[in-house]
Amino acid sequence: MQNFINSNRRDPEKIEAPERLQNFDEIYRLFDNKLVRRQAERCVQCGDPFCTTIGCPLQNHIPQWLEAIADRDLERAFALSNESSPFPEILGRVCPQGHLCEGACTLNDGHGAITIGAIEASITDLGFEAGLQLPFPGIRHDKKVAIVGSGPAGISCAHFLLRAGIGVEMYERAERPGGLLTYGIPGFKLDKKVVDRRFKLLRKAGLNLHLQHAVGADIALADLIDKHDAVFVGIGATMGKKGVEGDDLQQVMLAMEYLTVKQHQLFGAAAAAKYGMKEKRVVVIGGGDTAMDCLRTAIRDGAESVTCLYRRDMANMPGSRKEYNNALEEGVEFCFNISPRKIYEKNDGSVCVEVERTQMGEPGDDGRQRVEILPDTTHCVPADVVILALGFDIEPLPGLLDAGVECSKWGEVLIDPASCRTSNPNIYAGGDCYRGADLVVTAAADGRRAAFTIMHKLLGEERIDA
Ligand SMILES: Cc1cc2nc3c(=O)[nH]c(=O)nc-3n(C[C@H](O)[C@H](O)[C@H](O)COP(=O)(O)OP(=O)(O)OC[C@H]3O[C@@H](n4cnc5c(N)ncnc54)[C@H](O)[C@@H]3O)c2cc1C
Ligand code: SF4
Repeated sequence: MQNFINSNRRDPEKIEAPERLQNFDEIYRLFDNKLVRRQAERCVQCGDPFCTTIGCPLQNHIPQWLEAIADRDLERAFALSNESSPFPEILGRVCPQGHLCEGACTLNDGHGAITIGAIEASITDLGFEAGLQLPFPGIRHDKKVAIVGSGPAGISCAHFLLRAGIGVEMYERAERPGGLLTYGIPGFKLDKKVVDRRFKLLRKAGLNLHLQHAVGADIALADLIDKHDAVFVGIGATMGKKGVEGDDLQQVMLAMEYLTVKQHQLFGAAAAAKYGMKEKRVVVIGGGDTAMDCLRTAIRDGAESVTCLYRRDMANMPGSRKEYNNALEEGVEFCFNISPRKIYEKNDGSVCVEVERTQMGEPGDDGRQRVEILPDTTHCVPADVVILALGFDIEPLPGLLDAGVECSKWGEVLIDPASCRTSNPNIYAGGDCYRGADLVVTAAADGRRAAFTIMHKLLGEERIDA
């Protein structure tokens, strides 16, 4: 260990842009046995590991699994890594590590942080390849929990309940499970086979998955409450925000609408012509990671040009620098300090996004610099398709309020953050439906917290099994 003096941080190899634009495959190649060991050996084994205590929302045992893999003990590294995390191979791929574990790593200050995310994903991938198994005991209690939603929050809750031997019935309205892991995050960031592999494991462990079951439409929430010992709600926040004049034109679509249709298409379904981007000028409005995913999807989809319009400057853009750089490499054009006024159709069937230039002003009440419109700067950005990536609202779950669950005026389900319990003592919630659009790892942490509270309530002292 402590080999950071002799060995530099190495990021996973990235496929060059021209090659990666040919398909929707993951763009990073994870580490092999040798490289994962070499990178893990750099860890300093700090007395107070900030990567775990401050950086990781799951408080994963990072130094312990780094030490295990550096000692060539894949079995122990795999077990430790999967002990606290419901899907380390997914989080290692999708977490914004620079803001989390790697940002908090002691070596980040001058030597280059340990490549925690890539090592984490590689350990579990290598472990599965080597035939290692996860410790699910089978269903061995008569208690049963219903989970609404099969995204990261729901998966995490299911994982830890199943590990304690509690039966789980999961209800998902979509055709495939995974929530935004399946239909939001594109394949070039997360291979869908990786999500499928997790669900295969959970089903083998006893998960009863009911796909195409929308709670509130196909089955009443009240029925779930009656028939189960507890209910966990992990319905996410995927209702796209609108708000630009002309956003009802057929050339305009919401980010999740586009990404979901595209993913269905990649699974083999047909898509309406308006979703095909070939030789079209695509404009994406927004500056977050969802906007980046739309831009990079459209460019792989054969668009003639792909332009991002964002009303603040680059420094204030919420999208991660890593994804921004990947998008730049792939040929996306970014226009900062541009605010849309309206979208209108032209005679030739294309549209004009009428925009104004902006500048950054003084900070407002929320601490963010205000956007100031510059007068006499109105002009037209021509486009064939406009994609709105302006954030998400929460779609209310029918029956939730009737069940006595309090929600905020924005629709967020209110919970006690320490237990994930709602104002109905038998209903728990977590993930984006509580936080608003956030991260996979925070949804996973909520799901785990809820599972532990439920276990404690249903099994009392037996909670120790988990
Ligand atoms: C395009 C995009 C890219 C992203 N990229 C990243 C990233 O790289 N890294 C990262 O950490 N985060 C990323 N995020 C955020 C992350 O995906 C979410 O924070 C996370 O998925 C939230 O998990 P969840 O389980 O709360 O909700 P979701 O993943 O939204 O899952 C909710 C599930 O509930 C189901 N559901 C809803 N209502 C019902 C109902 N009535 N009955 C049955 N089922 C229902 C939905 O169909 C869905 O499957 C991204 C988000 C988007 C939109
Ligand atoms: S779950 Fe995310 S934050 Fe935690 S160690 Fe893994 S990559 Fe880092």
